[in-house]
Formats: sequence, structure tokens, C-alpha cells
Amino acid sequence: MEAPLIAAIETGGTKINVALARAPEEILFQERISTTMPEETLKQIRIALEKAQKIHGKAQALAIGTFGPVDLSPQSLTYGMITETPKPGWSQTDILSPLRDFFQIPSIIDTDVNAALLGEAQWGEASQLKNAAYLTVGTGIGGGLLMNGKLIHGIGHPELGHMLVTPHPEDSFAGCCPFHGNCLEGMASGLALKKRWGRNADELEIDHPAWELEAEYLAQACYNLMMIVPPTKIIIGGGVMKQQQLYPLIRERFSGLLKGYLSYPEITDHLDSFIVPPHLGEKAALMGCVVMGQRILKRF
Ligand code: ZN
Repeated sequence: MEAPLIAAIETGGTKINVALARAPEEILFQERISTTMPEETLKQIRIALEKAQKIHGKAQALAIGTFGPVDLSPQSLTYGMITETPKPGWSQTDILSPLRDFFQIPSIIDTDVNAALLGEAQWGEASQLKNAAYLTVGTGIGGGLLMNGKLIHGIGHPELGHMLVTPHPEDSFAGCCPFHGNCLEGMASGLALKKRWGRNADELEIDHPAWELEAEYLAQACYNLMMIVPPTKIIIGGGVMKQQQLYPLIRERFSGLLKGYLSYPEITDHLDSFIVPPHLGEKAALMGCVVMGQRILKRF
């Protein structure tokens, strides 16, 4: 039987990806929209999906993977609402109900990083695993955790991007998180790279000192995850991670930070497959939305 067709929406800080899909190899439609002000952006999403459905048929469910923080408690009056975000105009924006009410199909929302992790758990690096962590390093930094096969939701969703890191002694940058200054996002996001070095991540040379420092902070994040969760694999994606030279640097520094403390073979012998890029690449979050949509249909 054919898998259900899902309207998948990945809302990022600068762009929105909209798709109609059943699986990674069955993406019938995909369009990229700029993230502007909420009302206009939601209208553009609606128009794109209407257009796609006229050609490819009606989606059976709708799933959103969004930047946060977002209220994910289905019992809450503000379920599906972006809460306090530094993104201008988006705080207290309900992004779920306008689309759910318009399309009148079962709908669900989670963070973009939880969605990406779910995509990897279904079709990617975490497909055989019950426990994994996902970090995305883009304009900001986000993260999701899979434990015993389920995404972690506590009082809210994980905020791995705002974990505290120890500033490198030679790093004089104060950090750029509007809330915490030198949290992980404040020190290692794409925005932090730009503010520290005066250039975008993709404009910095492969041997620029930026990358050693970037690896230091991301390795600290992996170390912290290791001590708390601990995941069976750490997947790191996002625009900044297109700099492939970061992976070996992070692994090396992560190993250095552990100082021989943990001796799991996954770390001591197979570190190359412990800290990895997402198998689905930039499609991870959209595919996770497809999984979310297909899962809620099973409840109806
Ligand atoms: Zn922060």
C-alpha cells in the first residue's frame, strides 16, 4: 500500500521549505519560501501547498518542523505558538492553527531539529538506533534527543543550542545570544562566526583559525550530551557543517575533552561513525515532518 501523502513544512529563520512527500525518494513537490513577517509567510505557505495539491492530490496530514522556542504541549491553549524568539515579529505567533484550520486535515508540530532527528531515525544515520542526538548548526543552533525510540519532550523541548560552554582562553568574543551571551549558540552559531570574524562561514578559508575554535565549542556540546544522555550517535547538520573539515576537528577535540574517561568502543574505536553528518542532508527535517504526519494518521 502506498504511504500517505504528507504536507511537510520546515520553517527556518531565513527560509521555509514546503513539500508534498511520502518518503525521501517520493518527494512530489518542494518549494522554498523566504521567511518574512508571519502573516505573509503563512499566506505563502498556504499558496504553495494549494498549488501543489492541485497537481499531486490532497495531503492526508500536515506536519510542521519549526524554529523555536515553540509550545508543543497539545493540552496547552497556546499549542503550536512560537513563544519568545529573538526573531523580530515572530514572538507569540501561532503557526499551526491557521494552516490546520485552512486545510482541515490532521496536523502536528515539533521543532525543526526534532523533525530532522526523526527523519534520520526513520531513513538515515539513526535508523537502527533507539538513542541518538541531533545538533543543527546554522544561523542559530538547535538540537533534539531520541531516547528509547521517542523524541524527548519535557516541560518543553530540548534547547541544546543554549547550553553553556566554557569560553576558550584565547577567545575574546563575548558571544551573541541576546539572552545568554556566551551560550553555545552565542559562541558557535553561523551568526557568532559572522560577528566574530566579520565574514560568513562559507567565506572563511578551510584552514582559518575559526574552525579550530568552532570545533572546540561543538566538541564541548558533544561532551555535555555524552555526560547527560548519553546518545549512541551524535548527528550534526546545518549550514555551518557544510564545512566538512569540522567533523574530524570536532571528533579529535571531543576525544581530547573526554581524557580517556569513557571507553565505549563506539567512541574509542569508531568515532568516525559516532559523530556524523545527517544521511538525509538538508532534507532531514522535511522527511521528519513526513514521519510525524504519517504517525498521527495512525491515531485516527
Ligand atoms: Zn543562549
